[in-house]
Amino acid sequence: MEIKKGTFKKGIHPSYNKHYTSSLPIEIMPSPKEVAIPMSMHTGAPATPVVEVGQYVHLGELIGQAAGYISANIHASVSGTVKAIEPRLMGNGSKVSCVVIENDFQDAPCENVEKHDPETVSPEEIVKIIQNAGIVGEGGATFPTSVKLSPGPDAKIDYVIINGAECEPYLTSDHAYMREHADKVAGGLHLAMKVFGLEKGYIGIEDNKPDAIEAFKALNDDSIIVYELETKYPQGSEKHLISAIAGREVPSGGLPAQAGCIVINAGTAGAIYDAVTEGKPLYERVVTVTGSGIKQPRVLSFRIGTNVNEIIEYCGGLTDDIAKVILGGPMMGPAIYDPNVPAGKGTSGILCLNRADAHIEDPSNCIRCAKCTEVCPMGLMPMYLGAFSQKRNFEKCDEYNALDCIECGCCAFTCPARRPLVAEIRVAKRGVQALRKKRG
Ligand code: SF4
Ligand code: SF4
Repeated sequence: MEIKKGTFKKGIHPSYNKHYTSSLPIEIMPSPKEVAIPMSMHTGAPATPVVEVGQYVHLGELIGQAAGYISANIHASVSGTVKAIEPRLMGNGSKVSCVVIENDFQDAPCENVEKHDPETVSPEEIVKIIQNAGIVGEGGATFPTSVKLSPGPDAKIDYVIINGAECEPYLTSDHAYMREHADKVAGGLHLAMKVFGLEKGYIGIEDNKPDAIEAFKALNDDSIIVYELETKYPQGSEKHLISAIAGREVPSGGLPAQAGCIVINAGTAGAIYDAVTEGKPLYERVVTVTGSGIKQPRVLSFRIGTNVNEIIEYCGGLTDDIAKVILGGPMMGPAIYDPNVPAGKGTSGILCLNRADAHIEDPSNCIRCAKCTEVCPMGLMPMYLGAFSQKRNFEKCDEYNALDCIECGCCAFTCPARRPLVAEIRVAKRGVQALRKKRG
């Protein structure tokens, strides 16, 4: 197996704080009494419930049908009885229709589960299986993977890259998954390579995960090239991973496929392998429960739809000096006001921070130090974008390429005035999109 090195320009070196969980194995959390499974845990149209209240459902049974090309199927994560189909509060503050299932703790499997031999399954079958299994990007973007693997007849894909960077501070789910299931990740990579008829595949891992790199080396697979990447944030952003591995640039406003690349998260690759070889839909995933505000940090495999409060309780509960709970990592994850929400396909982390670590400070005026520009990995000028956004001058935001912002948070992290730059730029992006729509 070939090992290479790589990195990208700019970026930052925050405190990674992975020590809470980096050496912990994946623990399987017992399934809860009840799951509330959101019909929207993916980019695109919410799925349509296809079960009724009172109906018995099996583990892995389809309960929500994808409602469009960019959408995803949803499956039961426990067996039991559908108790309700009702809107429930999500981590982002929205309300989403959820299928609530009362667990009978039997894990009664679906009949007619189809298993395929990875050697003989066809490229078309692979994409169809992934679509049926409701697989979406587990890194947080939750884009439907079958759509990603269908870039159109004109696309020429040269690189399929597994994203094992996991550059977000604190998070170690992908690290643990790669260390324990390198074979499945490699299996998923081979299946994705088959879709595009490629002989070589790539895995990018930051060099702060040497044991994960060793796990892939031990596979002794000459068709996989492992890139040992400099530990630097945001190395796991698709665009920067492509830059580090393929040396290509994704065009402004474009997709990785336009640069001949497909990027798949490590956990997602494992889910692809499980779907093809075991007929298993995406109904469980791994989450890092971590930070100074949780009593027993853990890396857990949980059933989709488990309440975040229950996951926190399983980890001993919050500390008395808890200040903030974030879904995801500290750079890109949203803080939540109420942990009484379901954990879904995109829940990679539950980060609990005490008062000392939460850094809740009031912003002051911009001092024009340009530190935000120095670190922006997209070459943007965040201080201007923030200022134009505040004035709702979306023409100027467009001129300064607001839509290229990947919301990595490097600018806000570096800003000595603690300006809420990412929040301001998110507003700018929405404004620019509305403006462009109006322009036609
Ligand atoms: S402007 Fe966007 S891409 Fe640039 S550092 Fe800030 S959040 Fe990241
Ligand atoms: S880092 Fe903060 S204070 Fe410095 S220029 Fe950017 S927004 Fe202004």
